[in-house]
Amino acid sequence: MGKEKHYKFETKAIHTGYDTKEHLDSLTPPIYQTSTFTFSTIQQGAKRFSGAEEGYIYSRLSNPTVSILEERMADLEGGDKAIAFGSGMAAVSAALIGLTRASDHIICSKGIYGCTFGLLQMLEEKYGIEHTFSDLTTEEEIVSNIRDNTKIIYIETPINPTMKVIDLELVVRVAKTKGILVIIDNTFATPYLQKPLLLGCDLVIHSATKYLGGHGDLIAGILIGKKAIVDELKKTVQKDIGGIISPFDAWLLLRGIKTLAVRMDRHCENAEKIAAKLKNHSRVKEVYYPGDKDHQDYKIMRKQMKRGGGLLSFELNGSYEDAVSVVNKLKLIPIAVSLGDAETLIQHPASMTHAVIPEEVRKNMGITNELIRLSVGLEAWQDIWEDLEQALE
Ligand SMILES: *Cc1c(COP(=O)(O)O)cnc(C)c1O
Repeated sequence: MGKEKHYKFETKAIHTGYDTKEHLDSLTPPIYQTSTFTFSTIQQGAKRFSGAEEGYIYSRLSNPTVSILEERMADLEGGDKAIAFGSGMAAVSAALIGLTRASDHIICSKGIYGCTFGLLQMLEEKYGIEHTFSDLTTEEEIVSNIRDNTKIIYIETPINPTMKVIDLELVVRVAKTKGILVIIDNTFATPYLQKPLLLGCDLVIHSATKYLGGHGDLIAGILIGKKAIVDELKKTVQKDIGGIISPFDAWLLLRGIKTLAVRMDRHCENAEKIAAKLKNHSRVKEVYYPGDKDHQDYKIMRKQMKRGGGLLSFELNGSYEDAVSVVNKLKLIPIAVSLGDAETLIQHPASMTHAVIPEEVRKNMGITNELIRLSVGLEAWQDIWEDLEQALE
C-alpha cells in the first residue's frame, strides 16, 4: 500500500510497505519480536535458504516489522531497497567496509561526522584504504583528488557544524565519468528536503536517530540505494557483520516517519525565524544557516533542497568563555549533542563534538571557539528566541 507512484511524500510516509489485511487488520504494524521463524517441513526450510521460496528465516536476515520500515524508506528516498541498522554508524561502516577492498581510496567532504572520520582512520591503518578530504566545490579540485584506485566519494551536506552545502549534481557528474560511487549521508536534510538518489548518487545513509526518529528515543541507521548495491550489502555486511536494527526500534521509527513532513516544515520555519533574529543581534558576529539568502551556498541549497533545514550555527563576538557562558545561561534549551528532536538542542563544538581536533585544524574547518550549534526544535519559536535572547544579554 502507498507505493503507488502518484501518492505524495506525506502519504507514502504513512502508508508505504504496510497492508493491514496482511496483519489481522491491525491499523499500526505489529512488532514481530521474534528471533527466528518456523518451517513446516525440512523441504520448505531448504527452499527458504536457497531462495526458491520467499519468506522469513531468522531476524538478522530479515524481519517483517523491519521490512516495512525498509520498504517505506526506500520509497521516500526514491531508491529500490534499504537495509536498516542498529545505529547510524553501523550503516556507515556497513557501506564503507562492504564497498571497498584493501588499497582502495576514498574522497570525502571536508567536515564529516567524527565517528565516520574515526572509521576512515581505522580503515587506513588496518587495510590501507586511504582517504583525502576535498572541498568538492569545483570540477578541477575534485578531479585533482581522484586517483586510479578511487572507489568512493563520501559526502555530508549540509556539513556539520558550518552548514556548507555541497553541489551534488557537480560531484555526481565528475564521479560518473570515472566510475566512482557517490555515497551521501543525508541525515541533516532527510528525504523530505533532499533526495540525492534522484540526483544520481548511488547510496544514501542516515543516522535515523535524528530527524527520522525525531523524538530522541532511539539509536538507528539505514542505507538506501539501487537493488544491485543493496543486495550485495545484504548478503555480505548485513548477514556476516550483522549490525541490524531491533523490531521495536524499527516500529518506533515507522511511527516517527509518519510525521516527518509536518515536523520538517516546522523545524525549517522555526530555524528561519531564529536565524533572522540572531542575525540582528549585536552580540552575534555571524549566522550560518543554508536557508538564509546571505549564506554562501544559498543558491546550491535552492537547487537541491526544498528548504534550509532545522540546524544552524552562530558565532559570537567574544571569546571561548563568552560562548560557554551564553550556553550555560539557557533555561529552556537543553545542552546536548544529537539533533532533529522535538526539543531544541544546543552544543558548543569546540568543547564537545570537535574538542579532540587540534585548535588550528579546527579553525581551518571554520569551527572557531565562539561557534555555537543549534538544532532548532518544534517549540513555539518565540519561546526559543526568548531563551536565547536572555542568555545573550
Ligand atoms: C549522528 C550522526 C551519525 C551517527 O549516527 P548514530 O545513529 O549516532 O550512530 C552519522 N552521521 C551524521 C551526520 C550524524 O549526525
